[in-house]
Amino acid sequence: MILPVEDITEEPQSCDFSDPVEDLNRRLEKGPHDFRFLRPIDVHLQHHRSDDCLFFVGRLRTLAEGECARCTERFQLPVDQDFAIALRRAEPEEEGDRPELSADDLAVATYEGDEVDLAPLVEEQTLVGLPTRALCSEDCRGLCPGCGVNRNLDSCRCKAEEGDPRLAVLRSLKVGRAH
Ligand SMILES: [Zn+2]
Ligand SMILES: [Zn+2]
Repeated sequence: MILPVEDITEEPQSCDFSDPVEDLNRRLEKGPHDFRFLRPIDVHLQHHRSDDCLFFVGRLRTLAEGECARCTERFQLPVDQDFAIALRRAEPEEEGDRPELSADDLAVATYEGDEVDLAPLVEEQTLVGLPTRALCSEDCRGLCPGCGVNRNLDSCRCKAEEGDPRLAVLRSLKVGRAH
C-alpha cells in the first residue's frame, strides 16, 4: 500500500487494505521465527498529518501458522495487533551544524519524497504481534525425550518404568548400606 503524502491531510481519514504476505514469509524462512502467515494482512488504518509529521493509527489482522518449539505440532495463531506509527519528514542533511539528536528524535522514523510505502511498516508491526517463541500453548508438555511421544496427546510409560531418577539414587544408596 503506497499513499501519496498529499493525500494525508490534517483531517483524519481512514482506509482499509490488504497486504500480501509472500515477501514476509520469505523473510521468515531465513529468520529466527518458526512462523509463516496463511492469509493476507488486513489493515484498518487512520491517518492524519500535523506539521512535518504523519500519523498512522490502525489495527491489523492475519492468521499465522507456527511450529511448536516443544512438541513440533503445527498450530494456528490469529494475529490481531493495534499499532501507532509516526513518520517525520527527513530533513535534508546540512554539513557542519547538525543538531544533536535526542532520544525522542531517534524513536521517530522518517519519510522522504512524496509517497509513503506502508508495506514495510505493516510488516514490522505484524512481526511485533508474534510471540518470540512458537508454542502451541503455554503449558504444552512437549515430546518425551525418552520415547518421543507427544505428551499432550498420550501418556508414555518411560516414567513408570524408570521411576524418578532422584528416587532411584536413594534406593541404590539404601541397598548399598544394607550390605
Ligand atoms: Zn506444543
Ligand atoms: Zn516416554
